[in-house]
Amino acid sequence: MQNAEYINIRIHIEGLVQGIGFRPHVYRNAVSKGISGTVENSDNGVDIHARGTEIKIKNFIHDVQYTGVPPAAIIQSVSVTSEAKCLYTGFKIVKSSLQSNSITRISPDMAVCDDCLEDMKKQPERLNYPFINCTNCGPRFSIIRDIPYDREKTTMAEFTMCNTCRSEFININDRRFHAQPIACTRCGPAYFINNMSIKNTDIDNIIRYSAGLIDSGRIIALMGMGGYHLVCSGMDPDVIETLRRRKRRESKPFALMMPDIDTIQRFAILSETEKKLLSSVQRPVVLLKQIPDSLPEQINSGLDTIGVMLPYMPFHYLLFKELQTEVLVMSSGNRSSEPIVISHEKAVSQF
Ligand SMILES: [Zn+2]
Ligand SMILES: [Zn+2]
Repeated sequence: MQNAEYINIRIHIEGLVQGIGFRPHVYRNAVSKGISGTVENSDNGVDIHARGTEIKIKNFIHDVQYTGVPPAAIIQSVSVTSEAKCLYTGFKIVKSSLQSNSITRISPDMAVCDDCLEDMKKQPERLNYPFINCTNCGPRFSIIRDIPYDREKTTMAEFTMCNTCRSEFININDRRFHAQPIACTRCGPAYFINNMSIKNTDIDNIIRYSAGLIDSGRIIALMGMGGYHLVCSGMDPDVIETLRRRKRRESKPFALMMPDIDTIQRFAILSETEKKLLSSVQRPVVLLKQIPDSLPEQINSGLDTIGVMLPYMPFHYLLFKELQTEVLVMSSGNRSSEPIVISHEKAVSQF
């Protein structure tokens, strides 16, 4: 391809492409193809200037949209225009100089990804670390105080990255490159348990204790992303009734959480579409047709549907590993009316 024709193009991509690792994705793609140029966030998306041979540029345009795209990205439109000849030294991520106040689309919070769940088992500084995250997963919307989306403008600002986290944060080939909420046991937030007998931040202890409470018919309050849940066993009619009384929630059905699709299928009839929806990164509560008499009627006052979600926080996964019950009632708490003392933004306390 020695005589191949070099061309310059601009690609403008709109959609949900900020704060979810899209620029590193473009960068890796360009570098792997020997394309030079720049990528930066723009007011309403991402702007790419690229120079390369026609065939490479053609593949590049395809791959930035379809190959290795960050799971949380939603591409709404792509426009490609040719540009005048301009030479670049390599490919660079350019820090956006935009100071505009226009609302940039912010990613919703995302469920912990499979890679992070694996890291929780083997990365020494993140063993069972309940605030693990990467560019493909973790909190976004609920930690943002202001835009642009940078760590200093999130609730993570008070936590200074340790050297390990920083080295990942600045490594373009790392899954945590520019993951603003990056954290580990050494430098990040921790759960607190707030109880007469135990006051510590040892996560294994907290998980065991919380699971024990739930399995023995108690209700716990669990801080999550953007609020907290009152949590109890979904198989114990007495505790569900207690929760209903406390919530003064006469007959409204409670949402449930179950550890995986296989478990859900023992209690509800699932279509492929519903499976996909349940597993999507936003982990919505999905209304499902219940298998008759599979659950206490206190959950939904005997209706034939149940609202179910899959775990999304690392804490949920750790909890299910320890729990006897496979069904949790997850009732969103109302901060103003609930008599619960939360000792920290990220706290679990006994109800
Ligand atoms: Zn992740
Ligand atoms: Zn760290």
